[in-house]
Amino acid sequence: MITEKLFVVEGIDGSGKTTQAKLLKERLQDQGHSVFLSKSCSANQKEVVEELIREFEIERQSIAMLFLYQALHEKQCRKALNALEQQDSIVIADRWNCSFWVYHLNFGPLKNRRDLLKILDRLAFKGRRPQTVFLLDVPVEKAMKRKEERKGQDKLDQESFETFALARKQYREMAAQRDNWSVIDGDRSISVIHEEIWEEIKDYI
Ligand code: ADP
Repeated sequence: MITEKLFVVEGIDGSGKTTQAKLLKERLQDQGHSVFLSKSCSANQKEVVEELIREFEIERQSIAMLFLYQALHEKQCRKALNALEQQDSIVIADRWNCSFWVYHLNFGPLKNRRDLLKILDRLAFKGRRPQTVFLLDVPVEKAMKRKEERKGQDKLDQESFETFALARKQYREMAAQRDNWSVIDGDRSISVIHEEIWEEIKDYI
C-alpha cells in the first residue's frame, strides 16, 4: 500500500540525504505545509547509541545489533505514522526500510534468511510503502570524501570502500526493480539536486 504523503531520501552515507531532506522540509514549510522530518536517530542520538553498544559490548554483526537498530526503526515508523495520521503532516524520511534491506541482504547474521528479514522489516515498518524514494546516487569516492570532511560527527560509520560500493550497487538494483523509486544524480550541486527533487515532489503535494 502506498503511503501518499511519505517521501524518502535514500543513498549511501555521504550521498547528501540529510542535506536534501532538510532543504525539502524548509521549502515545504515555506509553502505552508506541516512537515515532519523522520530519522531513526539524530547525530547526537547516535553518540548515545554508540555508547550503549560499547557499554553492552554488542558486536557489530550480531543479532543484538540488528534488534537494536530495528527497535530504533520501529520507533521511527510509529512517530512518522503519527505525524501522517494525527497531524496530517507530510513526512520526509532520511532513510526508511531500504537501508535495512541493503545492509542485511549483504552483511550480518541473517544475510541468507530473507524469510526472517521480511518479518523483522514488517514489524518495524508495518509494510508502509513511500510515495517516492529518491535515491541519491553518488560515486563511492565522492561520498567517502564528503564523509571524511565531516569526520568526528558521525562515529557510527566505519564501512570500508567495498561496503560502500556494494551498498551503492544494491541501491541501484532496488531502484531498477521498483516503480516508486527515482534515481537522482547526487554528484551535482546541492541546489541543482534540490530543484530536481522539488520538480518531482510538487506534483504530489
Ligand atoms: P548523508 O546524510 O547522506 O550521510 P549529508 O547530507 O550529511 O549526507 O552530507 C554529507 C556531507 O556532504 C555534508 O558535509 C554536506 O554538507 C555535504 N554535501 C551534501 N550534498 C552535497 C553536494 N551535492 N555537493 C557537495 N557536498 C555535499
